[in-house]
Amino acid sequence: PALFGPERRNSRGWDLAHAPDLAMIEAARAPHRATRFEAAPLIAGSTAPDAAAPVLNPADPADIVGHVRPASAADVETALATARPWTAPPAERAAILRRAADLYEDHFGAIFALLAREAGKCLPDAVGELREAVDFLRYYAAQAETLDAPPRGLFACISPWNFPLAIFTGQISAALATGNAVLAKPAEQTPLIAHYAVRLLHAAGVPRDALQLLPGDGETVGARLTSDARVNGVAFTGATETARIIARAMADHMAPGTPLIAETGGLNAMVVDSTALPEQAVRDVIASAFQSAGQRCSALRCLYVQQDIADAFLTMLTGAMAELRLGDPWDLSTDIGPLIEAAALRDFSAHIARARAETRVLWQAPAPGTGHFLSPTLIRVPGIAALDREIFGPVLHVATFRAEDLDAVIDAINATGYGLTFGLHSRIDDRVQHAAERLAVGNLYVNRNQIGAVVGSQPFGGEGLSGTGPKAGGPSYLPRFTARPAPKIAG
Ligand code: GLU
Repeated sequence: PALFGPERRNSRGWDLAHAPDLAMIEAARAPHRATRFEAAPLIAGSTAPDAAAPVLNPADPADIVGHVRPASAADVETALATARPWTAPPAERAAILRRAADLYEDHFGAIFALLAREAGKCLPDAVGELREAVDFLRYYAAQAETLDAPPRGLFACISPWNFPLAIFTGQISAALATGNAVLAKPAEQTPLIAHYAVRLLHAAGVPRDALQLLPGDGETVGARLTSDARVNGVAFTGATETARIIARAMADHMAPGTPLIAETGGLNAMVVDSTALPEQAVRDVIASAFQSAGQRCSALRCLYVQQDIADAFLTMLTGAMAELRLGDPWDLSTDIGPLIEAAALRDFSAHIARARAETRVLWQAPAPGTGHFLSPTLIRVPGIAALDREIFGPVLHVATFRAEDLDAVIDAINATGYGLTFGLHSRIDDRVQHAAERLAVGNLYVNRNQIGAVVGSQPFGGEGLSGTGPKAGGPSYLPRFTARPAPKIAG
């Protein structure tokens, strides 16, 4: 039997090193280079949406990706009043979710175009994201077939812009697979891809009253959903601070015990010791810190390099950073796309200016003038304690340590209170074992990068300030969406 649930295959994906796959992608997304997409409430009743607003490409503000008509307060009320659990038998629900996965894959051209233009995703990230989305659909479909437990009722699913397809789909497919009704609130920055996805889910056969989409802002949509007694559970991915606000609202308005499944921020570290293979470690640091412009909650924020190898290692690392190409994520030669919005760029400017004044900036290249671009930046810090909050972009902090101080480093990492990912590059088995036992993190990666958890084999989620659990893409996730979470007995 498979370790993490029923037998099932992850998406084959697209091999970007394979010329025919690449040519197929280019042909399929080309027609969507200038498409104007649309997003609006998709609710089981008539809508009274607010006026349409343009959605702009973060790499090029002159590119209007589409228009969104956000949900009004009346739309939210209609959706709450008309939501109905999905009463079809589990096998039928699973079949429909699998059909949705096939539809997602069939529409890869438009999806890759949307991920580039609305979310700033380079093609390798877009491929990874579409794969993850369909893997969630198929994984939860397969698991739901074996789960004999009633739905809770109605779930509010509130998702982030950094995985506007994968996490959006993961939350709603878990709730739907178990028979719940879903009201989905996508991130304000990425309503178009959410709308596109919900249309595919409806086309696959998910009933319109079981899955309704409410694009809009936190106040009009999110706050209403998380303070309404008709909601029986909330799935949320986003900032730790927002999770606190949601938890408070739920405590005030919902039945005690209503689940909040929250995946929040991280202040993730990696340790590279003197036994590490430097070329491999540099490659994995680059991917962990800068892929997706560092806009993953799993991304590396603070690198600890053993003092003895620090000079040589940082020379290699800054050399590799100098090779990274910033630019339009649509272009295949681009490594790093834009930040999602201007506000993020402003936040970083102050952080980096402070470090520059203290001569702690070890590397930063110029960034393109238009679009919200931030060049990968390397900043020296005494340790992770110097970072007081999650830094959500391509800014890596680096500290050095002596071998005898490794436990102090581990303690400092634990003391941040976050506990999402950790990376360790070492060829000393005892050290790996020791770190694994002492570190309070959800996902620990050894001698590889620390991003891109794979559905069904690397359940993803943190502890402490990083989330409530259960881990997404793992066997304990679905039971939380049911009224009878099955206790798992080992053996
Ligand atoms: N699951 C993603 C990863 O492993 C990160 C999810 C997130 O950023 O919220 O990279």
